[in-house]
Amino acid sequence: MATKIQTPAYEAVIGMEVHAELMTESKMFCRCAVVDLTTAQPNTAVCPVCLGMPGVLPVINQQAIEYGIMVGLALNCEIAEFNQFARKNYFYPDLPKGYQISQYEFPLAVNGFVMIDLPDGSTKRIGIRRAHLEEDTGKNTHLSDGTSLVDFNRSGVPLLEIVTEPDIRNAEEAEAYCRKLRAILQYLGVNSGDMSKGVLRVEANISVRPVGSNEFRNRTEVKNLNSIRNMFRATEYEIERQIQVWESGGSVVQETRGWDEQKQKTFSQRSKESAHDYRYFPEPDLPVLEVSREWVERVRAHMPELPDSKRERFMNVLGLSAYDASVLVADRPIADYFENAVKAGGDAKIVANWMMGELFRLMNKSGLEREQIDEISVKPEQLVEVIQLIEKKTINNNAGKKVLEIVYNKGGEVSHIIQSEGLAQQSDEGVLRTAVMQVLDQNPSEVTRWLNGEEKVIKFLMGQVMRAMRGTGDAQAVQRLLEEELSKRK
Ligand SMILES: [Zn+2]
Repeated sequence: MATKIQTPAYEAVIGMEVHAELMTESKMFCRCAVVDLTTAQPNTAVCPVCLGMPGVLPVINQQAIEYGIMVGLALNCEIAEFNQFARKNYFYPDLPKGYQISQYEFPLAVNGFVMIDLPDGSTKRIGIRRAHLEEDTGKNTHLSDGTSLVDFNRSGVPLLEIVTEPDIRNAEEAEAYCRKLRAILQYLGVNSGDMSKGVLRVEANISVRPVGSNEFRNRTEVKNLNSIRNMFRATEYEIERQIQVWESGGSVVQETRGWDEQKQKTFSQRSKESAHDYRYFPEPDLPVLEVSREWVERVRAHMPELPDSKRERFMNVLGLSAYDASVLVADRPIADYFENAVKAGGDAKIVANWMMGELFRLMNKSGLEREQIDEISVKPEQLVEVIQLIEKKTINNNAGKKVLEIVYNKGGEVSHIIQSEGLAQQSDEGVLRTAVMQVLDQNPSEVTRWLNGEEKVIKFLMGQVMRAMRGTGDAQAVQRLLEEELSKRK
């Protein structure tokens, strides 16, 4: 009998490195402002310190340390008492000093974890190995004529590098980790989470191995991931590529790979053999930084509510389901919108339904991401106004959806739109009964079918009445009157 040869099943071993720029007012070691790279004139937020002039001295930014402590605490890390900065030496045009000041042997935060939320509703613990502070480099722009430009506005911006343990096993978990970490940074107010602007940069260290094995095979480091969607696709692609390399008898080369969005493929950038020897040594221009336990507790006392506790509160206090609560806390702007609507008098469950139904549908249709909800023209108070008008039977559900869509697309006041579009609900029993009787007279065969026991025909008749009333009929009243009038014809 022929034996079927089974392909060994593989699992991925993934560790993530995330670089988050911190939204401090000034840079890590000088007084220059932290500016938006996409809008500020190049090389306007610079000084001798961040341009690496000789004879200048760096000074540590206290706000950056406190932001780092906040992130460390949010990631359940131990905050180190003894902190030391080091010089990481390498030469690149965007690095004017010829070295980057970073934390190497003595990082700010170690041994933490974060709980990630998976699509099936389960959670998983991902270890956080370390989070350390450093300064960002300048930014090179390479032009098609072969010349290159450098903008030092970014040089010296505080950067927090957050490194996980290799606990992530597939692209879904990698995505869940990125979403959770981004939400935590947004909730803390230390990073906008805008990957397209490069203020949050994600790298995935990926290897694969047969399921059941504990070995660590050669890994690749995938960079240039400018959105969570691209990170997911690149990770999936890279896992599949490595499995194929091993399966075809080859071996995976340890290297850095980029993501080509056009081709939807990872490609080799440089091999690890040529990796720099950074010749780290303690930064002689900065004192050792002692983070006292009192300081840590002061920072802890001022921490804002984080996604997990907000979700608990949405479930326990506001009565939302676990699923609804998870969706609403996943992005801080969504959570803020929801809470503002509840503050404006909206019932929590009904607000959640309308946000996750109509508002998300309208946002998808116009290509907006969830976190852009604060840009839409439907304000939380207007959503609540529409919901309350439906409860008061001033308008029906469908009219409510129409009003929202009009405010979403063109702006305007809810009450004006209801008037100008004639969307007020018709509840006058005489008017409704006339419409019902007309529809019954026009559809004798459906009436006969109903009389013969085909109850579902009433839905069709209902639709006809609502259409005749241009969608403004009180649906419950129409249903009741239909049943009454049909019974009379028995
Ligand atoms: Zn400066």
